[in-house]
Amino acid sequence: MEKKKLSLPVQILVALFLGIVVGLICYFTDGASFTANYLKPFGTIFINLLKFIVVPIVVLSMIEGIVSMGDIKKVGSVGWKTVVYFLVTTAVACVIGFIFAVIFNNAGLFPALSLEEGVVWEKATSADFMTTLVDIFPTNMWTSFSSATMLQVIVISLFLGGGILAAGEKAKPFADWISSVYVVFEKITAFIITLSPIGVFTMIAWVVATQGTEILGSLALVLLCAYLAYIVHAVLVYSLSARLFANISPLEFFRKAGAAMIFAFTSTSSVATLPVSKQAAASLDCDEQVSSFVLPLGATVNMDGTAIYQCVATVFLASCCGIHLSFGQMAIIVVTATLASIGTAGVSGAGMIMLAMVLNQVGIPVDMIMIIYGIDRLFDMGRTSLNVAGDISCAVCVNRWEAKKAAKAAK
Ligand code: ASP
Repeated sequence: MEKKKLSLPVQILVALFLGIVVGLICYFTDGASFTANYLKPFGTIFINLLKFIVVPIVVLSMIEGIVSMGDIKKVGSVGWKTVVYFLVTTAVACVIGFIFAVIFNNAGLFPALSLEEGVVWEKATSADFMTTLVDIFPTNMWTSFSSATMLQVIVISLFLGGGILAAGEKAKPFADWISSVYVVFEKITAFIITLSPIGVFTMIAWVVATQGTEILGSLALVLLCAYLAYIVHAVLVYSLSARLFANISPLEFFRKAGAAMIFAFTSTSSVATLPVSKQAAASLDCDEQVSSFVLPLGATVNMDGTAIYQCVATVFLASCCGIHLSFGQMAIIVVTATLASIGTAGVSGAGMIMLAMVLNQVGIPVDMIMIIYGIDRLFDMGRTSLNVAGDISCAVCVNRWEAKKAAKAAK
């Protein structure tokens, strides 16, 4: 008889549940050191693998994205409006996420854990704006890669992508090579992701065994914080832009975008939701030409929900390891999370991998991700739904601006 394989999300949930059970047993039987010595190392292996793919994935996907926009000049007018809309709404999303995270943190709702066993991290140092600005520009490409300094890695990717476009025909073999290597890394990523149940089981068992039941309440709180921010962003930003820019009532917008948002909620992939988003945009009278440019681009680079999640998770994890974030670091997080969300692929769980980049940037140990890894699917459902709503909202606004421009030109 053929065995039925559980889907990955179900495997992760089972791993989470078993990990909590084992963690609680160890907590109540003084077995925390067992989890630290024999379970956590497997979680660490998983984390190491995640860290290993982050840099190549960021570089390759950003270059791919830029190269595929090669004819952006042709779509110039739609292109720049779209990009400005994406950037502004994502930055607003980061700020909203931050405000909620800081409120929760200041209200003492995020825990400070005592993870003395085996976790070593450098305290984040505060940096002023000008130093940060200078530090974004690399002096040595390989050093940036090997130290995973993500803002530098992004700048390098932008240069490489721009260089390929500028070089034109001659750079085609290089662009093809990048595409091919990207496919290879996507396969490796997919394989590593299949190992996540092991990572989830071992790490959550260790966290619960060393921290006790308190951590479970904290996870519920950080989830609540992210969802409050998701909702506020949707209501504030998308309602306003629908009303002000697209002349559509917010109710109508959400009613018609609803199916795509629900589909995104269950599929946790903006890319997989594309066909449904297209229908939603059409039902909101968005021109096919505009939506077929804006929506695929949005599904790859516009991630407001992911940006919120990354800000909330970063503040939460900083609190967990007792790092007090300075104002400068918060600004860095907003910038990095905006960029990280752009670099996030529109597939399930990608935002969590990119979170490593934000954490790196402010000196929070990437291992901390495992604390929230087990419930990532729950974050992902909400953030993907928001990501998709953001894409549709952009499409209807740009559509309206273009229509106005055409009407003016016709006069
Ligand atoms: N799942 C999200 C999306 O497809 C990306 C993420 O993981 O944040 O939009």
